[in-house]
Amino acid sequence: MTRRTWQEPVIELPHCDLPEDPAPVGGCDVCAALADQRATARQIDDSSRATDCNIEMRQHPHRRGKR
Ligand SMILES: [Zn+2]
Repeated sequence: MTRRTWQEPVIELPHCDLPEDPAPVGGCDVCAALADQRATARQIDDSSRATDCNIEMRQHPHRRGKR
């Protein structure tokens, strides 16, 4: 009698609440500031603010033309 009616549980990351943690782009002041805010938000356990910083960091436009 096998029961596989429900989906398998989502695999949790070892020590990261958020699925993705974008890295700040080097040389970008905005990203550096966002990374700073994110670190501060994590320290005070403000995960929603940290997520906001991640979203903003992802949406922050950058020039991709390093050659
Ligand atoms: Zn940036």
